[in-house]
Amino acid sequence: MTTSAELIELSERRSAHNYHPLPIVIHEARGAWVTDVEGKRYLDFLSGYSSLNFGHGNPKILEAAQRQLQQLTLTSRAFYHDQFAAFCSGLGDLTGKDMILPMNTGAEAVETAIKVARKWGYEVKGVERDQANIIVMEDNFHGRTTTIVSFSTDPDAHDGFGPYTPGFSVVKYGSIEAVREAVDSNTVAVLVEPIQGEAGVLVPPDGYLTQLRELCTAENILMIADEIQSGLGRTGKTFACDHEGVVPDIYVLGKALGGGVVPVSAIAADSDVLGVIKPGQHGSTFGGNPLACAVANAVIEILNTGEYQDRAARLGEVLHARLAELVGDGVVTVRGRGLWAGVDIDPSLATGREVSKALMSRGVLAKDTHGSTIRLAPPITISEEDLLWAVDQLAETIASF
Ligand code: PLP
Repeated sequence: MTTSAELIELSERRSAHNYHPLPIVIHEARGAWVTDVEGKRYLDFLSGYSSLNFGHGNPKILEAAQRQLQQLTLTSRAFYHDQFAAFCSGLGDLTGKDMILPMNTGAEAVETAIKVARKWGYEVKGVERDQANIIVMEDNFHGRTTTIVSFSTDPDAHDGFGPYTPGFSVVKYGSIEAVREAVDSNTVAVLVEPIQGEAGVLVPPDGYLTQLRELCTAENILMIADEIQSGLGRTGKTFACDHEGVVPDIYVLGKALGGGVVPVSAIAADSDVLGVIKPGQHGSTFGGNPLACAVANAVIEILNTGEYQDRAARLGEVLHARLAELVGDGVVTVRGRGLWAGVDIDPSLATGREVSKALMSRGVLAKDTHGSTIRLAPPITISEEDLLWAVDQLAETIASF
């Protein structure tokens, strides 16, 4: 048998080093648990950066995928296929929007929202050609394309990849005043993560999303909510914007939409916005393919029951109550909502990476982000017992430094 060590050595030698994985080689998974090639089990507290909200190998999602695999997998959008209408109407109903534009990855969906906002700016708002501007937030994470990294404030993501795409203004996250000051007649959109995931699960001040919504409406600007990581049940509601009863003009979705099986992303908007895109102006060979739509249709059905949102809310309270007890004991702060938390470890104790590695040796997989923050995002299917066990492992890990 090939060992983990051998597979890691070969992977490191033959792949680009664009990630810094923990030293584990996963072989199989079910629910909230994964097993490595040596047969050791670990509790997954990352969920593929919130792509596995409904658990590994969710039977309903697997069944839909397997059925569709036998039936029809790809047509391209040159033709209609029989899963597409249900996908667009189902996701349209879930978001309350008229129209859907499907893509594959999160970054592609963000790019789609940017293109739609610019075109809307020229055709509907009347912005002068090539002058459209989009307001974005400090510490944002929206993906890795050249346009998206152009407005990243993370030096690792941004530096060395110029020349950069113009047309973005960066403002402080959580400050409505900063947005107000940045607005001018060329502003077509504000692009915001309702909770900033990669930045460390940063929750903006109460009322911020409401104020953003009001400002966008007053100034005739599109509010674009990137719910790729925050949406689809993670925070205890279908969308993180729901916590303030806010409806953006464009939802950007991905990750869990593909049920942890296939990449599926999309934007959802009303026809006065998404209607600006005409044949030939945007697309993707695999976007909205039959397999992707069948899987996403199962995900939408799951979300329509509301069970997972309720479960994330209930277990989220358990998680945050337990994490709050750790503050002062090697933990500086805890943030988050629902089954999602950013835990800042006292940097004088250990780096986030050191904590993640030590936690892994105790059977819990979580990943650090930005220095000393550990991000926790277990599958929503996790049992309360497993959840509490994992936080105990975290507490013991921190105590061990
Ligand atoms: N937007 C947000 C909020 C994300 O968290 C991510 C990924 O982490 C992306 C966009 C990019 O998604 P993808 O990696 O599928 O391109």
